[in-house]
Amino acid sequence: MATEDDGVHTICPYCGVGCGLKLKPGEEDGDVSLQPWFDAPVNEGALCIKGGASPQVVNHEDRLTEPLIGDGDGEFRTATWDEALTLIVDELERLAETYGPGATGFFASSKVMNEENYLLQKLARRYGTNNVDNCTRMCHASTVYTLRQSLGAGAMTNSMADLEEHGEVFWVQGANPAEQHVIAHSNYFREATRDGATLIQVDPHANKTTRDADIHLQLEPGTDIPLLNVVLKTIINEELYDETFIEERTTGFDHLEATLEGFDMEEAAERCGVPLADIQEAARIYAEADNAAIFTGMGMSQHTCGVDNVQNEVNLALLTGNLGRPGTGVNPLRGQNNVQGTCDVGAMPNVLPGYLEVDDDEARESVEEVWGFDIPPEPGLTNVEVSNAIGDAIHGLYVMGENPVMSEPDALEVENRLNDLEFLVVQDIFMTETAEFADVVLPATSWAERGGTVTNTDRRVQRMRKVTDVPGNTRHDLEILCEVGTRLFGDGFDFDGPEDVFEELRDVCPIYHGMTYESIGYEGIQWPCYEEGDEGDQYLYQETFDTDDGLGVIRGVRHQDPKEVPDDEFPLVLTTARLEEHYNTGTMSTRSPTLRRKTPENFVDIHPADAEKRGIEDEDYVTLRSRRGEIVLEAHVTEDIKEGVVWTTPHFSDARANTLTNDVLDPLAKIPEYKAAAAEVEPVGSE
Ligand code: SF4
Repeated sequence: MATEDDGVHTICPYCGVGCGLKLKPGEEDGDVSLQPWFDAPVNEGALCIKGGASPQVVNHEDRLTEPLIGDGDGEFRTATWDEALTLIVDELERLAETYGPGATGFFASSKVMNEENYLLQKLARRYGTNNVDNCTRMCHASTVYTLRQSLGAGAMTNSMADLEEHGEVFWVQGANPAEQHVIAHSNYFREATRDGATLIQVDPHANKTTRDADIHLQLEPGTDIPLLNVVLKTIINEELYDETFIEERTTGFDHLEATLEGFDMEEAAERCGVPLADIQEAARIYAEADNAAIFTGMGMSQHTCGVDNVQNEVNLALLTGNLGRPGTGVNPLRGQNNVQGTCDVGAMPNVLPGYLEVDDDEARESVEEVWGFDIPPEPGLTNVEVSNAIGDAIHGLYVMGENPVMSEPDALEVENRLNDLEFLVVQDIFMTETAEFADVVLPATSWAERGGTVTNTDRRVQRMRKVTDVPGNTRHDLEILCEVGTRLFGDGFDFDGPEDVFEELRDVCPIYHGMTYESIGYEGIQWPCYEEGDEGDQYLYQETFDTDDGLGVIRGVRHQDPKEVPDDEFPLVLTTARLEEHYNTGTMSTRSPTLRRKTPENFVDIHPADAEKRGIEDEDYVTLRSRRGEIVLEAHVTEDIKEGVVWTTPHFSDARANTLTNDVLDPLAKIPEYKAAAAEVEPVGSE
């Protein structure tokens, strides 16, 4: 039984696996030391390299410790809190009076607590706009959209624990858990495969997950739909589907059959660049298993056809009856330690806490009753839409713990647009690339200094606990938001700490309603938890789906090319993905000596045939170009990538991958197409 006597129990600040660890104050003020938490519900003491290095950012010399006011030319001066907060409130009021509240956007953060994100979205809505969003838009917006539409909830249907115990086949598409969700892979997937489970990987890039895979279908980027259509057609042709499940629990099978009528599997396999027999063998293994689980990652979601990509995974699970039981499901592997929770608490432009639709009168009124003010009934703009509208419909931006200059596609354009903002507030722990453009920078809380709750990839709400005080003149994010809200509106933001905020959150958020800080304890609770005493659900949809008619939605989909395809000028396909030892925009991980030592700079993987054609040798510095810009980085010549494809990472500001990526969006989920852009590589200085 965990107690706080032997260290403070909290949650790793990096990925969505939600590993628990223990902290103790170090010898120096602000230092913390780390110990394993052997009873932690998710990881039982194990940590990956990022989790192990996580204390290194807490007392880092680059921490912001004073509020700063910018002069508009990139110079900053120290300000008092009163001065900074007065300027923020005056400018937010001026913007609302001049342009209306819809001229300002609010970016929440998957790196802060549920309570703080709840407060930020409440602040935006009290201000009069639904223009509030979070980085889910960049990673799994299409997954959340499809899972909500077709099954009911925008989250993992199952749990790492039940998958390990009951899963016979793991179908991992567009994800690399061995590097990006390391403990999920080592504690669950690898354990299961050692016990006989089969791991099928679908990914354009051979990576650490491939080492444990029984089958690797190395497809061309952007061909996930035809590959899955071959799988679906094979299952239908060979009558390997679950007829009873289809009849009793689904709708749309006819549509799928009609979509696949005349579908040419040979041609599709050729387009994918994978032998037809290999795809069909994988299809049979998946369909014939008693329990098979799909894991989906950003290789599926970050496309202009991201919604349809994920729909085809849902089609596969529904067709074979692989939902509603342990060891099955469609399971997004979420990237950040609180990206699930940030969505759960309503930091999205179309939904309120608990995914209550903002344009549903009854749902909206249920929240208005608790909040005591009217919520705008129209969905707001997503974060990329806000960014694209700067200088036009958008004039102000409040950014909490996000870094759009690094994270959004077509990064040079993002920089240009930020210059057009009339007012930008950035609240963060470091001077980020985005903060350089700010009018006010507020020093905020690191993970070891905060208490509250976070929600991991399998819907487990867990408590983080503070071990050390914030440094210098820094304030807690929660305190900052309460102060801004109170100064702006007078009431509604007077909270006595995170638990007080959580009590209001559970009042408006049905899926969290049954939880209290006490019941969450050290084990956490997996939502939905509607009433006190509910233990939460390890897996969803046992009897029925959370759709209007209770049926799971099958919908046939067809191949769509990426919006930019190779041509004579840019003959390669550029795709991007994360590394084990780094994290997203690199704000924290590149400041960690341990993580930086392992991979100090960005690189591009290129196939030997493509390298030879261009006179590039391994470890040469090359220029990687797209229509939007270029970066210089080291070439890694490797057969891990297919001929005609290049692969790089988004973590490094001095060779910023998003300078190159395309800002086209999935029309429904508005997620950018990070995973396919036309590109060219050449030795440095060869022009
Ligand atoms: Fe942290 Fe994720 Fe690594 Fe666990 S797997 S230690 S949560 S980064």
